[in-house]
Amino acid sequence: MKGLEETIPVKNPYEYNGESLHISPHTNQSETTDNEVVKKSKKFYIESYGCAMNFSDSEIVASVLSKSGYSTTNILEDAELILLNTCSIREKAEQTIRKKLEKFNSLKKSNKQLKIGILGCMAERLKSKLIEEEKIVDLVVGPDAYKDLPNLIDKVERGQKAINVLLSKDETYSDISPHRLNSNGVNAFISITRGCDNMCTFCVVPFTRGRERSRDPQSIIEELKDLEKKDYKEVILLGQNVDSYLWFGGGLKKDLNKASEIQKTTAINFAKLLELCAINHPKIRIRFSTSNPQDMSIDVINIMAKYDNICNHIHLPVQSGSNKILKAMNRQHSREEYIDLIDRIKQIIPNCSISQDIIVGFPGESEEDHKQTLGLMETIKYSFGYMYKYSERPGTLAQRKLADDVNEATKKRRLEEIVELQQKHSLHRTKEFLNKKVEVLIEKTSKKSQLYWSGRNNENTVVVFPKENYNVGDFVNVKITDCTSATLLGNAIGYSKNN
Ligand code: SAM
Repeated sequence: MKGLEETIPVKNPYEYNGESLHISPHTNQSETTDNEVVKKSKKFYIESYGCAMNFSDSEIVASVLSKSGYSTTNILEDAELILLNTCSIREKAEQTIRKKLEKFNSLKKSNKQLKIGILGCMAERLKSKLIEEEKIVDLVVGPDAYKDLPNLIDKVERGQKAINVLLSKDETYSDISPHRLNSNGVNAFISITRGCDNMCTFCVVPFTRGRERSRDPQSIIEELKDLEKKDYKEVILLGQNVDSYLWFGGGLKKDLNKASEIQKTTAINFAKLLELCAINHPKIRIRFSTSNPQDMSIDVINIMAKYDNICNHIHLPVQSGSNKILKAMNRQHSREEYIDLIDRIKQIIPNCSISQDIIVGFPGESEEDHKQTLGLMETIKYSFGYMYKYSERPGTLAQRKLADDVNEATKKRRLEEIVELQQKHSLHRTKEFLNKKVEVLIEKTSKKSQLYWSGRNNENTVVVFPKENYNVGDFVNVKITDCTSATLLGNAIGYSKNN
């Protein structure tokens, strides 16, 4: 069975941190009216970089553009408009975009009509500088300005450069039905919050995505209903910090104190939202990402335990195992509180899988701090994780106040050490499934063999098994016979009761 590994070890196929995701048209899209089809002559090509939020935003962009006569293409040369939905989280992510732009130079020379737009976090961070520095860029649009795209594109078509990077107090795109892209028709993202108020000292997100606001629960439920009608089987509720979700009638979360008493008492928090989704859609599997330890409540864990259709997996970034570093990062919890939280999770949901984000080489990180991170990992034994070298980001508190004083070789070595340890723990976790029966939602053909399906179990581990007569979108019970650190291998033993 060796050689069937579906993913790179310790990588979750459902997040797109730092990787590009090329988006092509979705075939079972039924939102377009006949009139729109007739009008559609212009084509745009879009690539998303960074986190799942960006991928989800590209679906909003596609929806906005489809209403102004654009349709998607996956052939670069056919496009009159190329959009890059960018990430600024680490310097490398921005370098990737700059290199990509160089490649578009020749395309632009051979197609004078071609326009190029930069969307997302890099657009927000660099604003007009992007147009000055990257001559081939015609359009710069921040994450809260996508509804303005038709006007901006008009301007660009008239030969001008166009830019809108205004951040909004209340934009959540709740009135836009996302145009599903590159979809397998099985799982879909639903964005529930935008922005972030955490102000972690390393992080550029509050500056590129603005302050935190939550989306109207009614529109979330409507989107879920629509997905279920279209036969989707799994949704992932998305936000920078989903546990901080709070709907009290709209606006920024920091303005909660200005809300009326009735708004405050009838407010819907993440636990209530999760329950609303689970109770009304018992056949839909529900996941969420990302959780922040400081905001994760016991109510959320109890709701997860109460409903079978909420998956037993929590992505719980820790960033460091050292209290000194956690404090310098402005994480609002200690190592001990984090371990307590995981103890509570395991008491309530014993088989809940936990994954992590960790940064090595944050300013001032000593060998002892690094050892504490390794020690924390030994205590938790995460199922998988995303691990990064600290990358200093302009404008963040860490960049303004702290020296980036861990040298590159040390950062590299520390990263290798935590990645190696994570692989050991991932294997430990996948081995726990050996000889057990797991329920798998089939998502696609395995990358390694046409004869095998690939899907994920409740705990978010990839499972690969022979196709037999099953189909994409089926819930199947699979007996696990073998594993790698990232993949479970087994044989189907029948449809599960969820089917
Ligand atoms: N909201 C989540 C949280 O902090 O709990 C994470 C969202 S962030 C988009 C994804 C991950 O990128 C972070 O958890 C962190 O590990 C990593 N990251 C953010 N800023 C970074 C930086 N300056 N250098 C290296 N990694 C960084």
